[in-house]
Amino acid sequence: MTVPQITLNDGHTIPQLGFGVFQIDPPETERIVTDALEIGYRHIDTAAAYGNEEGVGRALAASGIPRDQLFVTTKLWNAEQGAETTRPALERSLAKLGLDHVDLYLIHWPRPDLDRYVATWRVFEQLQGEGLTRSIGVSNFHRPHLQRLVDETGAVPAVNQIELHPAFAQHELRAFGEGLGIRTEAWGPLGQGKYDLFGDPAIVRAAQAHGVTPAQVVIRWHLQQGVILFPKSVSRERMAANFDVFGFELTDAETAAIDGLDRGLRVGADPDTATF
Ligand code: NAD
Repeated sequence: MTVPQITLNDGHTIPQLGFGVFQIDPPETERIVTDALEIGYRHIDTAAAYGNEEGVGRALAASGIPRDQLFVTTKLWNAEQGAETTRPALERSLAKLGLDHVDLYLIHWPRPDLDRYVATWRVFEQLQGEGLTRSIGVSNFHRPHLQRLVDETGAVPAVNQIELHPAFAQHELRAFGEGLGIRTEAWGPLGQGKYDLFGDPAIVRAAQAHGVTPAQVVIRWHLQQGVILFPKSVSRERMAANFDVFGFELTDAETAAIDGLDRGLRVGADPDTATF
């Protein structure tokens, strides 16, 4: 079971399938991430705002897995954006994770109302230069936010992590970012369980045809279009199933049927108006 490695625009590689820890209780995190590492996940997606970086760090340390075989992402929380606050925020995250660098550091939300993401990005470039993070990217950036970053700094983020699932396929934003060389990461890849994705006939038909679960079909749909994803589960059985997705391939017809589910259904916050 080999997870494909994707090469980012800075030359570093990222495992295409990882494990996300949003809403995993801090006291549970070490055990759950340990399960994920035992199953074979090597890419963990956390954030300062999740409050569970310490648990992630303890699981990484206890695993004994060499650092160069792990890929760890964390994110700068919105309140910490800015020229003075960004560096200390990454230093705090590193201390909690027990790491001397992360593999990917993201601006969690653009918060255009704050008007600080350009200044923040300039600090990100310094932090990358110093080796505190290998790659730098953004999350929840819409086209105008990406364009402004490129126009004002000349830099192209390695990734944009956005809400993305079959009912919210984000074709335009993906095409724009990917046209610039930005890889797309999907958050909420299973729709966060907020609509009946797994009961949809297009998904159920494909699952039956391949003898897999609906969740495995949705993960394949993401993988086959080159998207990076890290579905979350606290159940070891589901974690294992979500990782066991390299033994089958969706046909073009199955993919097209799932593509047909896009209806612009956002289940999370709108980055243009979010104020948290
Ligand atoms: P998700 O789409 O991965 O859905 C998670 C839910 O799906 C779980 O609560 C679980 O109940 C269910 N599920 C998982 N595997 C299943 C299976 N095999 N069968 C049936 N149900 C299953 O949602 P998510 O956790 O929000 O997104 C994944 C990751 O993306 C997060 O953990 C986090 O790392 C990241 N994320 C980032 C942002 C951001 O703003 N950048 C926002 C949300 C999430």
